[in-house]
Amino acid sequence: MRILIVEDDAASLLVLQAEIEQLGHECLTADDGLQAWELLQTAAVDVVVSDWMMPRLDGIELCRRVRAQSRLEYTYFIFLTSLRDKREIFAGIESGADDYLLKPLDYEELQMRLMVAARVTTLHAKLAEKSQALERLNREFSEQGRTDALTQLGNRLRLHEDLEMLASRAGRYQQRCCIAMCDIDFFKVYNDTHGHLAGDEVLRTVARTIRDTARSEDGVYRYGGEEFLLILPEQSLDSATLAMERVCKAVESLAIPLDSGPPARIVTLSAGIAALNLGESEGLELLIARADAALYRAKKAGRNNVQVDAQPDSSAPATAEPLRSERKA
Ligand code: GH3
Ligand code: MG
Ligand code: MG
Ligand code: MG
Repeated sequence: MRILIVEDDAASLLVLQAEIEQLGHECLTADDGLQAWELLQTAAVDVVVSDWMMPRLDGIELCRRVRAQSRLEYTYFIFLTSLRDKREIFAGIESGADDYLLKPLDYEELQMRLMVAARVTTLHAKLAEKSQALERLNREFSEQGRTDALTQLGNRLRLHEDLEMLASRAGRYQQRCCIAMCDIDFFKVYNDTHGHLAGDEVLRTVARTIRDTARSEDGVYRYGGEEFLLILPEQSLDSATLAMERVCKAVESLAIPLDSGPPARIVTLSAGIAALNLGESEGLELLIARADAALYRAKKAGRNNVQVDAQPDSSAPATAEPLRSERKA
């Protein structure tokens, strides 16, 4: 163990240090409580063996400070006292000390007390290690619970958390924001032709393509089966349309054969966009429903195209261009 000896009497300090080192421990020393306290700010110490009466900062105050410090590692505290008054010992234990040793020191007594100290500090170290491992696991579980296992995109839980946060921030700072609901066209046909495992691979590829095409500040989530949702912060309906047209184009460019035809078709994506109504306390379900309705129109318009919500963009300036018409499939 690494042991800090705090003793204002130089001769006692030397004797104690020799004995502790003889027991196989590493020693640090301080002449008074304040020096010890300063040393403890930078050095990791398992055990403090401290005198009681010292100038500048006494053993009791040093012990109180050590206990008040929230540290992961436990510092075992033994105080040395020549006072045989139980009340003084009581005060020492009450201030946070784990044990005490009476002066003049008995070598075997010291040895026994340090054996106990080793046991306790090892136990504390194991506990700290376990609690760190638990915290790590907790973080991993929390991350897993918000990640779609197939595509590694955020799942519905993460989507709802992010959307809530973004909507409240957008409302507060009057920042516009759009969402886009995307759906792979005729995906059932793909599965029926190539099988579900190949279908899964396409879902992964499309997810990656959407992620790579979107801006880094956009949120991309797997909404359900072959549906993806994008959160597009600080985008108008117009700029969001351009962005989503790029996404659809990127999926189309993958040129993944949908079926054997004729005519030979490829995997494509349709998208519906809705803008968050700033200043209105519209539920997020309604926002998603509006994007979904726009997606439905994209499907009806022939798929592989982007449609915007029929509602005017309340966050756009009054002179905004009329809503973009559908993109040719
Ligand atoms: P539409 O263009 O109208 O969207 O046609 P669609 O065939 O894509 O739509 P439909 O809702 O009829 O079918 C969706 C298909 O998506 C059916 C389902 O098996 C498939 N699907 C959903 N989730 C998964 C998945 O995790 N893996 C695979 N391989 N297929 C999935
Ligand atoms: Mg003293
Ligand atoms: Mg579909
Ligand atoms: Mg669908």
